[in-house]
Amino acid sequence: MNKILNLLLPIFRLILNHEKLQKQSNNWNDSPIASKKTETLRSEIPIPETVEKPIFFHPVRIVSERVTSPYGYRTLNIDGKAVRQFHIGTDFGGSGPVYAVEDCIVTKALSADKKYPVRFAKRDGTWVDLIKSKEIPAGRAWTPYVILKGIHTGNEYKYKHVDPSVEVGAEITAGSEIGRSGNFGYSMGAHLHFEVWVNSKTVDPVKYLKSLELVK
Ligand SMILES: [Zn+2]
Repeated sequence: MNKILNLLLPIFRLILNHEKLQKQSNNWNDSPIASKKTETLRSEIPIPETVEKPIFFHPVRIVSERVTSPYGYRTLNIDGKAVRQFHIGTDFGGSGPVYAVEDCIVTKALSADKKYPVRFAKRDGTWVDLIKSKEIPAGRAWTPYVILKGIHTGNEYKYKHVDPSVEVGAEITAGSEIGRSGNFGYSMGAHLHFEVWVNSKTVDPVKYLKSLELVK
């Protein structure tokens, strides 16, 4: 019985507290500097609606070989402690260009912190939070990102640890490069953290890409 409960508990928690979980697991930038530097689409710029047949594109080259951390519960070793969290995206390892999944409009973007690019360092088998160890000032080493809104589906695509090469408000076509992933911000190695939001809820990005036949 306990075994079954243990198996079901994460599912119940996911259903009951989806919104809360998303907020908690969203290692977003709450630092005032990051918020100030974030560019946001002005409300007077409309998101165009089209009815053309959409074309979809993978977010990184060779998606299937690069997943380093899948969507779902995971445990990280931070400051010598096991930290369990719900990972609301999929991590694709490596640094390099990342691409728009469909024709999109750029709704939000934040450039990398040039002075303090990354928040964690690995020492003696654990990840040290350099803000907690006071090696980096609070609010720095923010996570750079790009948020795109799909013109065809209305879905949102969040690309974190990405230094953007696109401007907020720009309309971009599927497959265009939108920036480069790297070891930026709340990060433990160069990667793209990729989220897909359908009707304001996260879905498993790999399942989503599979449904579009972009991954086998
Ligand atoms: Zn991630």
